[in-house]
Amino acid sequence: MTGFPLLLDLTGRRVLVVGGGSVATRRVRALHEAGAEVLVVALDIAAELDALDIACERRTFTDDDLDGVWLAVACTDDPAVNAGVAAAAAQRRIFCVRADAATGGTARVPAVLRRDGLIVAINGGDDPVRATALRDAISVALDLGDLPSRPARPAVRGGSVALVGGGPGDPELITVRGRRLVASADVVVVDRLAPRALLDDLPDSVEVIDCGKSAHRQNLSQDEINAVLIDRALAGKRVVRLKGGDPFVFGRGGEEYLACVAAGVSVTVVPGISSALAGPAAAGIPLTHRGVSADFTVVSGHLDPGRPADSGIDWPGLAAGAGTLVLLMAMDRLGLIAGELIAHGRPASTPSAVVHRATLDGQQVVRAPLGELAAAVASAGIGAPAVIVIGDVVDILGPPAPA
Ligand code: SAH
Repeated sequence: MTGFPLLLDLTGRRVLVVGGGSVATRRVRALHEAGAEVLVVALDIAAELDALDIACERRTFTDDDLDGVWLAVACTDDPAVNAGVAAAAAQRRIFCVRADAATGGTARVPAVLRRDGLIVAINGGDDPVRATALRDAISVALDLGDLPSRPARPAVRGGSVALVGGGPGDPELITVRGRRLVASADVVVVDRLAPRALLDDLPDSVEVIDCGKSAHRQNLSQDEINAVLIDRALAGKRVVRLKGGDPFVFGRGGEEYLACVAAGVSVTVVPGISSALAGPAAAGIPLTHRGVSADFTVVSGHLDPGRPADSGIDWPGLAAGAGTLVLLMAMDRLGLIAGELIAHGRPASTPSAVVHRATLDGQQVVRAPLGELAAAVASAGIGAPAVIVIGDVVDILGPPAPA
């Protein structure tokens, strides 16, 4: 069949479905959602169909069932019955879909995808598997923002803020939802350690606001960041706050969240893969391993370990335990922290590693016993951003495979 693609307006129009099994159930649900007035005729009718608010008649099909019908769907498991329905429908010039035979009937149902006001309908000739495979691939591509699906003129709607965890930096390590939100954003407010490669794909119409150039130099203060999120959202924009790792791990995401709520701006959070998890994984270091470590603690190293009141971190307690330690923002104080841990009982021989620029170009891993880690880092000449891992798990998988 060459075919002529159409979209039918079935609102309030009668559609006859002959058959009451699983295929019929799928078709009836879609027809019902399209607003059709569905009549089901079948000897056996699935309970699920019965539960819908539609007319069901338990009997065999008769030609009179086609009275007043705009479209017929034959989906019994008996090809002879389906052929009979198709023939009777053709007689009356009513289009008929035969579910059992791609070559039967006078109409086909495409594989359908609906997204944000778009309808994608695909026909694979006589091969429905081909059509659904393509439909599913388009669905993923739309989710990833790989296809130009945004409306030419954005529909008028309230603005919003999404605090999106971008993962450790590799653009492939953001969640599907995060990527979709970035692809449909009007404004992206981005951090230094967010996956900035994603910005390259944004159309020129998207406003990109860069918050930070380096660890020590911020373009915008936290108050200014909060203000810009709120300002753009109140102007009706879809704002994505694209952050490194997870928004709620040392990212001040909680403050941004509270600021939005206080301003009456709708705000959502999309989790991300924290560098605390991704850094060790990228270096081949499991954080837990049966018989070696059953817990790990993620600690910020950006406050002075000599003054516990500063941070509330119990360095002596962490030193005394045997669990894996993961330190973020700790490169400036690596020597101090290592010394503190050793002074309180962590053996200086504890295997340790620094993972610099995890998952990004130029990733580097330095391994050394805890007592020698700071010196090893200094001689390798690496600094932030880096994740530090301390514990017997560091060596458990053996030396990394040669690249
Ligand atoms: N919210 C982030 C952490 C922000 S604090 C997250 O969940 O990952 C910033 C610290 O994260 C850096 O100082 C560094 O310790 C770590 N970090 C972030 N990205 C990193 C990367 N790609 N490689 C190594 N460390 C990273």
